[in-house]
Amino acid sequence: MDRYCVFGNPIAHSKSPDIHAAFAAQTGQQLSYEKCLAPLDGFAAAVQAFIAAGGKGANVTVPFKLEAHALADALTVRAQAAGAVNTLVFSEQGIIGDNTDGAGLVNDIARNAGVAIAGKRVLLLGAGGAARGVVLPLLEHRPAALAIANRTVATAEGLVQQFAALAGEGVLSACGFADVQGQYDIVINATSASLSAELPPLPPSAFEPGALALDMMYGKEPTVFLRFAASHGAIPRDGLGMLVEQAAEAFEVWRGARPATTDLLQQLRTKL
Ligand code: NDP
Repeated sequence: MDRYCVFGNPIAHSKSPDIHAAFAAQTGQQLSYEKCLAPLDGFAAAVQAFIAAGGKGANVTVPFKLEAHALADALTVRAQAAGAVNTLVFSEQGIIGDNTDGAGLVNDIARNAGVAIAGKRVLLLGAGGAARGVVLPLLEHRPAALAIANRTVATAEGLVQQFAALAGEGVLSACGFADVQGQYDIVINATSASLSAELPPLPPSAFEPGALALDMMYGKEPTVFLRFAASHGAIPRDGLGMLVEQAAEAFEVWRGARPATTDLLQQLRTKL
């Protein structure tokens, strides 16, 4: 049976084994998928041991996405753009590094939330690893504007520089949270502020009435960002759909079969 796993530290909380077991059952694939707690100073050795034991591929989560990027022998275009790897394929040519987080986000917005990105004004909060991974997939959907706001403005400016050549003139911009100007149809919180129940100090006027407000974090209760957005006329959405969609994308990379996600997403939500 083909073996897959998710590397992380900590990893006990991971929902990925349940998600991939459901995908395998749904598509009639024979595979196993386990949690691998890699030592903080032993990620590469853990990957090599898994390959030696017959592993075919792996997901990678906090804090190893940058190490996975460095470890890969070859990178997909989206992994190069993200500067981080969340999906590994162990092939005869070596270790291939991919990144499915951005595709997961845009698929969740476009397919599950039913919101087209083309022609919309998009505000991305944050400029860390998760934000960097979604800039290219968002630009591929041709938004009218993609503003990146971050606590450290220079980091957001760095992302604008990195992706400027791929965006239309005037599409990309950077600023601090309090300097956000205008209204946005889609507002994505890719900061880790929600982890500490903090709110990026965004002007409430940033939300177009009926805007989609998506927080990459998920949990039983809405985050402080989602509560703030909803109280200013936006439609809140957490990061559970992104999680399931990035897994579906990885599953397709490994197995060549695209699993359906709608029912699984509903089931996972009832278990939060
Ligand atoms: P990073 O540590 O790489 O980046 C953190 C970002 O948040 C930076 O832009 C940082 O700003 C900003 N930030 C941190 N604290 C605050 C604060 N108190 N107020 C405002 N901004 C703040 O983290 P990641 O990019 O890897 O992860 C971000 C979030 O996305 C996490 O909550 C993570 O769980 C989630 N995520 C969800 C996924 C899913 O599938 N649903 C997938 C991947 C990530 P600065 O540059 O100034 O430090």
